[in-house]
Amino acid sequence: MSTPRYAVFGHPVAHSLSPRIHAAFARQTGIALEYTAIDTAPHDFVAALDRFAGEGGKGANVTLPLKEAAFAISATVTERARRAGAVNTLSRNDGRWQGDNTDGAGLVRDLTGRQGLDLRARRALLLGAGGAARGVAPALLDAGISELVIVNRSPERADALADALGEPDRAHSRYWADLGDLGDFTLIVNATSASRDGKGEFSLPFGLTTPRTLAVDLNYGEAAIPFLAWARAAHCHDAVDGLGMLVEQAAEAFEAWHGVRPDTDAVYAELRDRDKVLVTAD
Ligand code: NDP
Repeated sequence: MSTPRYAVFGHPVAHSLSPRIHAAFARQTGIALEYTAIDTAPHDFVAALDRFAGEGGKGANVTLPLKEAAFAISATVTERARRAGAVNTLSRNDGRWQGDNTDGAGLVRDLTGRQGLDLRARRALLLGAGGAARGVAPALLDAGISELVIVNRSPERADALADALGEPDRAHSRYWADLGDLGDFTLIVNATSASRDGKGEFSLPFGLTTPRTLAVDLNYGEAAIPFLAWARAAHCHDAVDGLGMLVEQAAEAFEAWHGVRPDTDAVYAELRDRDKVLVTAD
């Protein structure tokens, strides 16, 4: 019997850590699998997934900019993927793709479990409204934040996300240009890909923060440096990157595919040790 195939699809995807993480989980649990990275431009995504399924592909992770497209092609979706309107994990069942979203669970597990932080009653600012923001927004609401303000470069995407969340009293959108007038937040999440080219500073008003603000960047490695530098300059109480979320969302996907929950601590520690050389995020 051939080895079951899994892959991460994205564009670009060459530096994705998912193959390394899933290989480590597979070694740890004694499960045989092959996991590769497949670079797919958005216009070729459906055809590439079809080819992958035809070659025996059993599951796929999906990263930027394909998460909303993955939602659209899923024959069925889990409740958390439906609320997100974005899919980062696909499972092949009875010749059809089932879509799930493990990003939000991964983020909350990292923040509350590994980092020991309490998210309840925090007033939260979410920067970005792409696939990752869609994944984490419902999970943050479920974790007990008091309010979610969504700000995105393209305001219509922030409006669409706020509408999809369907909690107008707790979750709403504002304009990026109005960031200076939004008051302060005890949780600020950077879910943009603005720093992925490694250029420039992350310039936000310091008035967004308080001495107990938790600043979280979904990016990690070099891409997280500008936002975390801003958070430290603003004297945020905590500044956390997205490496732990990356490992936890992968563990959620691994469990969905293989029915076994891997231990994430050893994999996280190994990647954290190598963080100096990381250049991209999933
Ligand atoms: P998408 O391409 O779906 O969305 C990108 C988001 O970034 C959009 O909101 C976009 O705004 C915004 N953006 C891009 N460039 C700029 C800029 N110059 N200034 C302001 N906003 C900008 O990507 P994803 O949502 O999938 O991913 C977002 C980031 O999160 C990525 O860097 C990714 O690596 C990281 N991530 C980390 C994960 C982890 O496990 N740690 C998991 C998932 C993602 P607009 O709508 O206007 O284009």
